[in-house]
Amino acid sequence: MLACVFKAKNQWAVEEVAEPECGPDEVIVRVKACGICGTDLHILQAEYFSDFPIIAGHEFSGVVERVGEKVTQFKPGDRVTADPNIFCDRCYYCKINKNNHCLNLEAVGVTRSGAFAELVAVPEKCLFPIPEGLSFQEAAMAEPLACVIYGIQRSNLRPGERVLIFGAGPIGLLLLCAFQKSGASLVTMVDVSEKKLNLAQELGAHAVVVADGREGSRLREMAPLGFEVVVDATGIPAVQEKALQFVQPDGTYLLFGVAPRGALMKVEPYSIFKNDLRIVGSFAVKKTMQYSLNLLASGAIPVNRLISASFTLNDFGLALSEVLDNPDHLKVQIVFP
Ligand SMILES: [Zn+2]
Ligand SMILES: [Zn+2]
Repeated sequence: MLACVFKAKNQWAVEEVAEPECGPDEVIVRVKACGICGTDLHILQAEYFSDFPIIAGHEFSGVVERVGEKVTQFKPGDRVTADPNIFCDRCYYCKINKNNHCLNLEAVGVTRSGAFAELVAVPEKCLFPIPEGLSFQEAAMAEPLACVIYGIQRSNLRPGERVLIFGAGPIGLLLLCAFQKSGASLVTMVDVSEKKLNLAQELGAHAVVVADGREGSRLREMAPLGFEVVVDATGIPAVQEKALQFVQPDGTYLLFGVAPRGALMKVEPYSIFKNDLRIVGSFAVKKTMQYSLNLLASGAIPVNRLISASFTLNDFGLALSEVLDNPDHLKVQIVFP
């Protein structure tokens, strides 16, 4: 089968590889769509906990090709998507419901072969049927939305609160939509791209601010007392550092964007003390995939508007340059016609 193999730091190739083996409790999925995520770039740039060589790709959907002998819930032909995280359900953290910190965590497309390939092997327990009416490309957005829903749970947003989001990429826009559905009264978005901010407005953002160096004073003017919830969806440490000043006393700062490993930000501990601040992280998905699919099935989140380009696996290089070089890109997907 054809696959895109990440061979070493910044080295990859689309080539023929052996088809995946199907374990007794696994399902072989014929991939139809797979999103390119910031995590995939971190993997390629050797900034993540993956090892080379690896077939990446963890935001995917497809059709069941065959099933292992112990599989009972799926059959060939079923349309499926997956939570790529594989929990052991035996370790200390799994036993206290902190599964996303599983001591034996494996993930499809991170620690084992993923979906930048024609076929991918997935444990049955990670699979979800795609609700009727959702396309494969829309269903491949379920995993990033599941991460976003976990982030919103972490933020402890209460009805009526106001939210400020830095970064209007696909994750920032998913956060915008999901915060609105969760009771936020007003959502303000900041980004360098006016095109992305226009879309944010169409999706219901109350206000948008171009990050042109003067965004700080404009935000202070708009909300002199700050915001109840501030979210970073850029992963850029300089932005993450500045965003903290906009959190209202007794407010929450959600660090959602993935910064490069080892990068640092400066924080004044006194201001955290004085302002009763909560600073929270949000790692991956913790059993929020079903909620994500429920939301997608309800039509509440127009994810198709967040997909800005799609390429075939053979054009992986073009897809990568779209992500790296086009500042207006949103979700870029690999599709398998
Ligand atoms: Zn992802
Ligand atoms: Zn575990």
